[in-house]
Amino acid sequence: MTAAPFDPHSLPPLRDVIARFGLGARKALGQNFLLDLNLTGRIARSAGLAEGMSVVEVGPGPGGLTRALLASPAREVVAIERDSRFVEALQDVVQAADGRLRIVEADALEVDPAALTEAPRAIVANLPYNVATPLLIGWLKRIEDYVSLTLMFQKEVADRLVAQPGSKAYGRLSVITQWRAETRVLFNLPPRAFTPPPKVDSTVVHLTPRAAPEPADWADLEAVTAAAFGQRRKMLRQSLKPLGNAEALLTEAGIAPTARAEEVPVAGFAALARAVRAARA
Ligand code: SAM
Repeated sequence: MTAAPFDPHSLPPLRDVIARFGLGARKALGQNFLLDLNLTGRIARSAGLAEGMSVVEVGPGPGGLTRALLASPAREVVAIERDSRFVEALQDVVQAADGRLRIVEADALEVDPAALTEAPRAIVANLPYNVATPLLIGWLKRIEDYVSLTLMFQKEVADRLVAQPGSKAYGRLSVITQWRAETRVLFNLPPRAFTPPPKVDSTVVHLTPRAAPEPADWADLEAVTAAAFGQRRKMLRQSLKPLGNAEALLTEAGIAPTARAEEVPVAGFAALARAVRAARA
């Protein structure tokens, strides 16, 4: 199916939409808007959306990124927004999109995007930073449902997602994310790119499902990384004690008992998760 052409500039400027509907930003909902359509176009293009794909956007707000997503070859855009003010303000875009845009008023933490859309599907979002990490964790659990996730995070979180062993930012979030996904930083944005500007720099990250993730159970991997990084300066033979015979687990996983959490690659944590499971059986 050929997607209908959509011109993001054919609608009133976003600043006018904000003024007309009185859309003052609510800090509690992580509302920092992108009003520059060149920028939202750059994000949408970097997502690599192909014809026939469904796209889920979390938090369309006044719709700058939504417009750019509609200008992509994607078949359909489903936008999940918690703030009802925007649901009303977006009706003009719904009209102009000619059946390709659906707005779902909901808390994205409570919704499974895969249940709202047909495959192949992708998520593209300028995330509300206060719930960005729990949203990502939920999507990672079912990442095989998506072709890709293209997500804006505060830079400090993005740094943790892509961090490699031996770096200060390497931690639980790095291991869990990289276990399930290939991660790539696309670009950074300064606070002034947003209205109102957040206090922090931001980064767009592209995630795709890892084809053959190391075998491990999600709960076991969470338990192992929690124990290991909970005391990241300690040797693992000490920090893993709450999980059982730490020395035996480490030997089973082929990791030196004197190693520290930040030195162990994702494959090592997966081996530890398997060792914990085997010891319990
Ligand atoms: N996409 C818009 C843009 O780029 O200008 C807005 C991005 S703003 C950083 C985050 C958006 O997420 C806001 O519109 C906010 O209302 C919405 N939001 C916050 N928490 C949410 C939640 N739990 N579920 C769905 N949307 C949420």
